[in-house]
Amino acid sequence: MANTSSEVQLKPLMDYIDGEFRRPEIHRGIWLENPNTGERAQEQLAASDDSIGRAIAVADQVHQAGTWANTSIEERAQMLEAVGAELQKLNPDIADYESYTTGVVKRMTGMLGFIVAGAWGLAANMLRNGALYRELPGPNNHTAEIHSKPWGPALCLVPWNAPAALAAHKVSNALAAGCPTILKPTEWAPNGCNALAEAIHRAGLPKGVFQLVHGGPDVGAKLVGDTRIRAVSFTGGLQGGRAIAAECARDFKPAQLELGGNNPVVIMEDADFDEAAQGVAMLMTQLNGQWCRALGRLIVHENIADKFVDHVFGVLSQVKLGDSVSMASDMGPMIHSGHLAKIKGQMQAWLDKGGVARSSTPLPDLGGNFFAPTLVLGCSPADTQHEIFGPIGAVHTYKTDAEAVALANGTPYGLEGYVFGKDEDRAMKVGRQIRCGEVKINGGTVISLNLMAPRPSWGWSGFAEEGTLETLKFFCGTRVVGIEGPMKFG
Ligand code: NAD
Repeated sequence: MANTSSEVQLKPLMDYIDGEFRRPEIHRGIWLENPNTGERAQEQLAASDDSIGRAIAVADQVHQAGTWANTSIEERAQMLEAVGAELQKLNPDIADYESYTTGVVKRMTGMLGFIVAGAWGLAANMLRNGALYRELPGPNNHTAEIHSKPWGPALCLVPWNAPAALAAHKVSNALAAGCPTILKPTEWAPNGCNALAEAIHRAGLPKGVFQLVHGGPDVGAKLVGDTRIRAVSFTGGLQGGRAIAAECARDFKPAQLELGGNNPVVIMEDADFDEAAQGVAMLMTQLNGQWCRALGRLIVHENIADKFVDHVFGVLSQVKLGDSVSMASDMGPMIHSGHLAKIKGQMQAWLDKGGVARSSTPLPDLGGNFFAPTLVLGCSPADTQHEIFGPIGAVHTYKTDAEAVALANGTPYGLEGYVFGKDEDRAMKVGRQIRCGEVKINGGTVISLNLMAPRPSWGWSGFAEEGTLETLKFFCGTRVVGIEGPMKFG
């Protein structure tokens, strides 16, 4: 395991098609950066049209032959567990690659290793617990069988903020469902996903059951648009989500879309300042604020707003911004200079409309794409509707609980909400009214309230909810089979 980004060696990128690793043919002329220093790291590569076509043809053949779909539940579960065991060994390297390429600190990428390796065992357990089959009473003392059957070749598209963990969640469930699966990693942080292909290869999954092709949105779009791809699971931004939804609508192809958020954090008048300020700081710094569930709007009771915001800046002044690969850093840099410029531009638009920016976290002397977590005060809620995928939040004040709820619900998104307050009943009452997939009271970690709870999205945050069981079910169509007779005419 490396101690600083200068010690990380990225391996050459490889496609994995029909059981073989091969170098992607297309040079994109776009470079990954070491976000800690701004130095060029590795050129983005993409699969050629021939390679994309071959990967789809192989996935289709595997599906037509039924070789993967017809494996027994136990056989499939054991193969998934074997992949999880290989990933456990590769996890330290994956954490290095992910911290290096995304700028997310190693304390977080290391912790997310529990998903990278653990998703496979979870999927295996669900298979053994009968997730793909149940029975209901049918007519004439017969049974109605309810089968969950794989749709066919599945495509998984992942973003750059936690690519290996998101890929492991999607791919393990697609394979558990019985779908031959193609992963297209993010072009901005593809290296951890490449290690996932290595683990699958070492675990000995049959050829063509899993494949990986590199490239940008253009490669993703070619895969989505092919009629042989029967289901698409996408995590990413609004623009990509809309394009994929439109394309999938053409053939009624199931699409699971987990998109962005502009997440409200409501601070009740009775909130414990220390606890709530810690929560706000976590929600601005975890994954460097480049997190779909990060703080978007800080909605504070007007009687405490000034003092509370000061308190938040007290906590943020202690945050150690530093090299993302070092275990000593609390927060790292933005993923690349283009993204840093984008979020600065989005913040400037708020400032141009009368907002005032405040931050207190010292910047390290490293160069790179560092940006101190920032709150912008004084904007109209009408101007803070959209996701800024970075550590920037807008502060709005309220008088009544109803106003707090209206501000929380005043964006087109609906992913996550947070409420901090000592009176838990009152905080829960506010939380129940926030229109989004999950609301946490007095909490702000990256972990869901329960491993088996669904992770739904409302509004522009997506549709076809994900979750431990939900994602497995997404990759399956349902088939009901049973005997109705004896038939008597008339
Ligand atoms: P992105 O949409 O640019 O890309 C995501 C992936 O999809 C990449 O692999 C990309 O190459 C591919 N892609 C993009 N457009 C495509 C298209 N039209 N057709 C096919 N493939 C396409 O997203 P990003 O910039 O990598 O990630 C940031 C976004 O992801 C943010 O909006 C964030 O909120 C969201 N996100 C959501 C969740 C969630 O759980 N809801 C989790 C993480 C990130």
